[in-house]
Amino acid sequence: MTGRADRGTVPPVNRTSARLAAISPSATLAVDTKAKALQAAGEDVIGFGAGEPDFPTPDWIVEVAVEACRDPRNHKYTPASGLPELRGAIVAKTLRDSKVSYDPSQVLVTNGGKHAVFTAFAALLDPGDEVLLPAPYWTTYPEAIALAGGRSVVIDCPDSAGFKVTIDQLDAARTDRTKVLLFVSPSNPTGAVYTPDEVRAIGAWALANGIWVVTDEIYEHLVYGDNVFTSVPAQVPDLVDQTVVINGVAKTYAMTGWRVGWMIGPADIMRAANNFQSHATSNISNVAQRAALAAVSGGLEDVARMRDAYARRGALMHRLLTAIPGVSCLEPQGAFYCFPNVTGLLGRSYDGATPATSLELADVLLEQAKVAIVPGEAFGAPGYARFSFATSDQTIQTGIDRIAAWAAR
Ligand code: PMP
Repeated sequence: MTGRADRGTVPPVNRTSARLAAISPSATLAVDTKAKALQAAGEDVIGFGAGEPDFPTPDWIVEVAVEACRDPRNHKYTPASGLPELRGAIVAKTLRDSKVSYDPSQVLVTNGGKHAVFTAFAALLDPGDEVLLPAPYWTTYPEAIALAGGRSVVIDCPDSAGFKVTIDQLDAARTDRTKVLLFVSPSNPTGAVYTPDEVRAIGAWALANGIWVVTDEIYEHLVYGDNVFTSVPAQVPDLVDQTVVINGVAKTYAMTGWRVGWMIGPADIMRAANNFQSHATSNISNVAQRAALAAVSGGLEDVARMRDAYARRGALMHRLLTAIPGVSCLEPQGAFYCFPNVTGLLGRSYDGATPATSLELADVLLEQAKVAIVPGEAFGAPGYARFSFATSDQTIQTGIDRIAAWAAR
């Protein structure tokens, strides 16, 4: 019988799977979208939200891609793991920059560093496995961990600790289920850079405790002043068999839109990651891979030029932010973000609005001062906000002046 009464007993259907329904939208992109919508509506919005270089990709890289479009070899499927020439060039570049030697078979070329993060956790985690995740963290990590069935164990690292995790904190957070430590230096969103000694201590701790390290090196070339980039497996060579490196061309060469990143790790993990990619995406766009090949095998002059500009802009933004009463800000050591503590701006009234959290502050700031920032909540760090300085000096000056004037009202 299929009468009315029977139909009433049919359980409701979950249209979206529980796994995907649990994913939050990327907050960094959400702010950017809202700011762009206001701009499209004719508002003069200053955007500090986007985490990408404002420079175009250097011409000599673009030219290689234009040529690559005309080469029929690039019109076909190629190995899922990446063009052999590119994997070789990534090995050479990793030896140059990270001082660690790999075999090309250990490299998987992915659709941006983001794809490498998802693949790394998919290859490493079983349901219930725990990942130590120092906060403030890049907003994508916990989603990638959860999708792979893992559990993020968030460790708070406030500005008073330089936004850096300590060995004592790692010891306190470790359990029998801890499988991985997520490590990133220079950091998005804090701009913190660990010293070689700190990197060595953390690597030695992971080795002693049998814990994997997923180390995100995507901002390796963007370090300022006396700060230096240090690769974990270079400091602790024995850790190489339980380390996965994430990297890509996006930040170093102003190539966010080309979507080329990579993952490097031990043979067994890379075999699994390769098999996964062979079904999920096959190869990354060959034209983009050819451009990435040019980038990683070329010189670092353009990188130095862009780094100098970021260094100047970061210093400017830091100086302007710290001059605002109620705002305190550590000097950015790397990447292209200031991550000020904004708790001193909360609980005050601004034209009838009284933001109580950094999330509300970001909203009021966008509406009233027309400046877009990303609230700390997106990075597991309420009370802070991320300001990208990958934008012009003039934009930084105007935008932070606007905030200062708005806060002083
Ligand atoms: N890691 C970190 C820390 C990042 O900030 C980003 C970009 N926001 C990525 C990885 C991924 O970059 P992409 O996918 O553009 O290569």
